[in-house]
Amino acid sequence: MELGGFFVCTVQCGSGICICVDFFFCMPFECTQPEDEERKNTEKKQCMLNNTSIFQQCLEITKKIVPQCSLKEVQWKNQKPKAREAYCPTEIEHIANVITHGVAIVPSILGTYELCYRSENFAQLISALLYGATLVFLFGVSTCFHCIFYRFQRGRWKDTLHRCDRAMIYIFIAGSYFPWLTVKALPTDGWASSMKWIVWLLASLGIIYQQVFHEKYKSLETIFYVIIGIFPSLPIIAESDFSGLTELKLGGIFYVVGIIFFKADGFIPCAHAIWHIFVIIAAGVHYFAILNHLYPDLPPST
Ligand SMILES: [Zn+2]
Repeated sequence: MELGGFFVCTVQCGSGICICVDFFFCMPFECTQPEDEERKNTEKKQCMLNNTSIFQQCLEITKKIVPQCSLKEVQWKNQKPKAREAYCPTEIEHIANVITHGVAIVPSILGTYELCYRSENFAQLISALLYGATLVFLFGVSTCFHCIFYRFQRGRWKDTLHRCDRAMIYIFIAGSYFPWLTVKALPTDGWASSMKWIVWLLASLGIIYQQVFHEKYKSLETIFYVIIGIFPSLPIIAESDFSGLTELKLGGIFYVVGIIFFKADGFIPCAHAIWHIFVIIAAGVHYFAILNHLYPDLPPST
């Protein structure tokens, strides 16, 4: 029987029972013994043998459960890839990549439900469904891709999901702007009213470019992400009575800072997982901005 850091065991010793309480590798024990000294020593040796055997078994089990390697022995990153080559994450980086986006799937579903619940008109409802879907799919597709990448280092499924993962970034950017450009009443005379469709056009062009030149001009692709991420915000920021501007900017800053880690595979340990965390924080800031400014909580009915 194991109690915290102690092993407590009972061992049959001839006519008596030895009750042994040991702290892992220590061997002290007390044993009720018969009067005869010689018999006492024999039984004591037998008791120790049994005791040692039990502890060896316990030790073997412990070794199987508890990893024997120290944190220093973990390979936190691989070498930086050559030009036009994909980075190959280490095992710990694979696991971190899966976890850091996997944890956001359920909150995204719950967040979408909350937006739908608060919707009072069609514009709010369609925005909640579309934005929520892009949020859930962003984290869902990313998690699936990183799971498959971890399991199969290369292959058709991995390549297909990698393309989907990249395409979801464009779709998610367009989806994130949709509530701001749909629920809010923007001026109808300028280009602000057209931005709701322009952002999807830009996302489509980005996806086509990304599918054609997949993994070829990665820095150029990152610049496209930044352009499509910032450009649609201009007509929103131009609105004088715009509420939620601070959160919109703050979320944007998190995305931009996260790009440093997005491009740091092989330089910084678990860089891609850190990029994932920045995405979660930025998406969270933008979600609560949308929730508070576009979907104000309904007053309790009297
Ligand atoms: Zn990722």
